[in-house]
Amino acid sequence: MNLRIPGPTPVPPQVRDALALPMINHRSPQFAAIQARIVENLKHFFQTQNDLLLFTCSGTGGMEACVVNTISPGDPVLAISVGVFGDRFADIAHAFGAHVNRLNFTWGQAADPEIIRAKLREHPNIRVVLVTHNETSTAITNPLREIARVVREESDALLVVDAISALGAIDLPVDDWGIDVALAGSQKSWMIPPGLVMLSVSARAWNVIAQARAPRFYFDFRKMRDAMAKGETPATPAVGLYFALDAALQMMKDEGRANIFARHARVAQHARHRAQSLGLELFADPAFASNTVTAINNPPGIDFKKWRKVLREEFNVVIAGGQKDLTDKIQRIGHLGWVTEADIDACLDAMDAARRQVEQVAYA
Ligand SMILES: *Cc1c(COP(=O)(O)O)cnc(C)c1O
Repeated sequence: MNLRIPGPTPVPPQVRDALALPMINHRSPQFAAIQARIVENLKHFFQTQNDLLLFTCSGTGGMEACVVNTISPGDPVLAISVGVFGDRFADIAHAFGAHVNRLNFTWGQAADPEIIRAKLREHPNIRVVLVTHNETSTAITNPLREIARVVREESDALLVVDAISALGAIDLPVDDWGIDVALAGSQKSWMIPPGLVMLSVSARAWNVIAQARAPRFYFDFRKMRDAMAKGETPATPAVGLYFALDAALQMMKDEGRANIFARHARVAQHARHRAQSLGLELFADPAFASNTVTAINNPPGIDFKKWRKVLREEFNVVIAGGQKDLTDKIQRIGHLGWVTEADIDACLDAMDAARRQVEQVAYA
C-alpha cells in the first residue's frame, strides 16, 4: 500500500524489525542506554543543547503537555493559527484556563510576522506564544524564523512551537531561532508508528515551568526530566517505540540531516509540479508551500469521496481528505519520513487515473 497521508507515515523494514524485538525491563541499564542514545541523536536533529524529553502519547497529548507546563490559569496567551492544528493549540490553552488571544489567518495563507508584532504591542502582557511551524491541515509552513525574531523583539513571552509535522523533515534550528519549547511527533517525519512525542525545553522555559500553576501529573516536565536523568521514565514508556526510534534515528544519521531536509524539499517540489502538470490546482500559497504535505483543490464537480475510495480500493493508494472547513475542498498528500519521488509519481498517477474513472462515471 502507498500510504500517502501526513501521518502515520510508512515504516521502513529496519524499523519494523526493531519493533519486533523482545521486551526488556524499562528500569534497566539496557533501557537507559537506548534512551541516552535517542536523546543525543534527537538533540542533533532538533539542533539544540536544550533538555530533550519524551512522552508516550499522541501528538495532541504533547500539545497538552506543553500547555500545562508553561501556562497558569488566567495567563494571557497569544495563539497564532493558520488551520486546524493552530486552533487545537488555542482550544487546549483555553481548556486549562488561559486567557487566549486568538490571531487567526486565512486558511491556505501563512502567519504574517508584522501582524504578530502589532498584536504583541497591543497586548504587552502576553506570557506565552503558541504557534504551529507546519500546518498539516492547509499544507503551509509558517515563517517561523521571522515569527521567533518578532516575538523576541517585542516581548519576554515564551515561544512554544507545535513542530509535529516539521521537525526531522524541515530545517528548524531550535537554539539559533530561540525556540523555548519545540514539539515533535513520532508518526510524522521519524518513520515510526504513533505513540511518542519528543520535545525540547529551554532554560527560560524551565524558569516559567517552575512557577506554572496549571494542574499536571503525567505530563509534568520536571518529573520526566528527573526520571530521565536517572535513565528512566516516571511511568512505563512505549518501550517498543523506543527500539523503533533508536533504529530510525540511526537511518536518519546515515542519510545526514542536511540531506534529509534537501530530500523533503525536492520531493515536495516534485509533488507540486507533478500535480500541476496533471491539471490539478494547489490550495496553499506557493510562497509558503509545505515540504511535508501538499494540498490539492478538488476538481470542480468531482465526487471527492468516491475519488478517494477508488484510489484506495482499486489503486492501493491512501491520501488524506480536508479537515473541518476544508472537508469538501481539498485532498492532502503526505510526503514526510520514508518517501521518494517515485512514491509521489505512483500516488499522483493513481490520483489521475482514479479521477478519470470517477468523472467518466459522473458524465456517463
Ligand atoms: C499530526 C499533528 C498533530 C496531532 O497529532 P496526533 O498524534 O494526531 O494527536 C498536531 N499538530 C500537527 C501540526 C500535526 O501534524
